[in-house]
Amino acid sequence: MTLFDSHAHCDDARYNSEYEGGTDKLIKDCFESGVVNIINIGTCIENSRASIELAHKYEGIYASCGIHPCEALGRDEVDGIICELEKLLRDEKAVAIGEIGLDYHWQDVPRDIQLLYFEKQMELAKKLNMPVIIHDREAHGDCLEMIKKFPEVKGVFHSFSGSSEMARELVKLGWYISFSGTVTFKNARVPKEACVVVPSDRLLIETDSPYLAPTPHRGTINMPSYVRLTCEEIARLRGVEPEEIAKITMENAKQLFKIK
Ligand SMILES: [Zn+2]
Repeated sequence: MTLFDSHAHCDDARYNSEYEGGTDKLIKDCFESGVVNIINIGTCIENSRASIELAHKYEGIYASCGIHPCEALGRDEVDGIICELEKLLRDEKAVAIGEIGLDYHWQDVPRDIQLLYFEKQMELAKKLNMPVIIHDREAHGDCLEMIKKFPEVKGVFHSFSGSSEMARELVKLGWYISFSGTVTFKNARVPKEACVVVPSDRLLIETDSPYLAPTPHRGTINMPSYVRLTCEEIARLRGVEPEEIAKITMENAKQLFKIK
């Protein structure tokens, strides 16, 4: 069974201190486990650049570049940052803009600044005709409102935490939905329900490594090879074989990110 992890941060500094052999060993182990493709995600200019470097080093890795809502800087900096981002996104291994969106759980960045960076990056996605990867934490209403302003832009809601109703609405709007290890958590009623209503052609899986390690590894550092556990849980909930979920999520990721 070969798998596609649609969202990981393999260049995260934690791998150099907490994983023996660091990022290169992590990726080698991941390929050996059957996870053959990864979208490596940026959250700021610096690690978006690192993402591209990693994608050039490994054929199976692709880069997504973007400014996470918690990494948004000032109002005066936004145009310069968008300009830097655009240069990075012109790279042949850059396949998406993300992660971008809204995070109302952490209060460090004011909402108006988060909304400004989100909107500017949606404009960029429209201009470059690229898919986006959305981070939506406790901001479902405002995220929906923003994507509706850009009907030409499509993408994926990553580590989906919304309801089944929201999942249905996103599908209707032409979006993909990605589930992470949270779907394996024992009391995760909401994602367990949501993952069964998503049609087969809109489903993605991910780890969000090094965060959100699935059961039974909860509390430890996450890694792309654990995407198998999310695949197996979704298969169990949908009443199909894991191989089928592996196959459709691989096809869907290739379709969304325009990978041959
Ligand atoms: Zn992430």
